[in-house]
Amino acid sequence: MNRRDLLSGLISGVGVSLLYSELSFGDEQDRKDSEGQNKQKDQTEQKELKTIYLTIDDGPGKHLESILQNLKNGKATFFLVGRAMENLEGYSLVRKALEAGHQLGNHSYSHPFFSRLSLDKAKSEIEKTDLLLEKVYREAGKINPKLFRFPFGDNGCMGCKRKNEHKREINSLLENLGYSAYSWNLDGEDWKYGRGKTVESILGKLMMIKSGDIILTHENVITARYIVPYLVSSGKYDLKVLEK
Ligand SMILES: [Zn+2]
Repeated sequence: MNRRDLLSGLISGVGVSLLYSELSFGDEQDRKDSEGQNKQKDQTEQKELKTIYLTIDDGPGKHLESILQNLKNGKATFFLVGRAMENLEGYSLVRKALEAGHQLGNHSYSHPFFSRLSLDKAKSEIEKTDLLLEKVYREAGKINPKLFRFPFGDNGCMGCKRKNEHKREINSLLENLGYSAYSWNLDGEDWKYGRGKTVESILGKLMMIKSGDIILTHENVITARYIVPYLVSSGKYDLKVLEK
């Protein structure tokens, strides 16, 4: 049971005991007032939840199954690498994620730096994964929203401050293929584990989450064992999928 369930359980428990004591005095109006207050209290609890968008990149891999098990009370968007979806196990896990209400996005076919790719290669990276995603969405009877995330956040010219022709061409290619690029505004830093970050410091950073944040994580042991369980059980967040 998470904190939210516990709280709503406590609130409805209070409701039941108040109802019992007030009925014994036969005061119907007081009972209604009390129920109204409890309803308001319940709504306040709901309102306090921050809507956040958890994104999990680089799958499907060996941690997807446990991530899905831990995501029963929340939804995530998985930005997937096409070549990892080609085997039966990867594909069926992705299908399972989609059927559980999560969103799937395109994270290229082989996870390259797009600033180093010709336009033809970039097109093929997007299209090969698109074919796989179209198949899985079609089989599940859903529509692929065509969400894209650039590997390494490299949208054609990393760190470019001025206008750059390659970046412009890559972005119009993406648009022509029907895709929209999604970045993030909070780096979960799961990928820094073992590179100077501890589990405590990674979870500590998550305390800074604001409503509306798009959180970057990756399919790895830190996300599976710590980040996802924290986000779904803290009782602070409403985890939703990215939509176009
Ligand atoms: Zn990636």
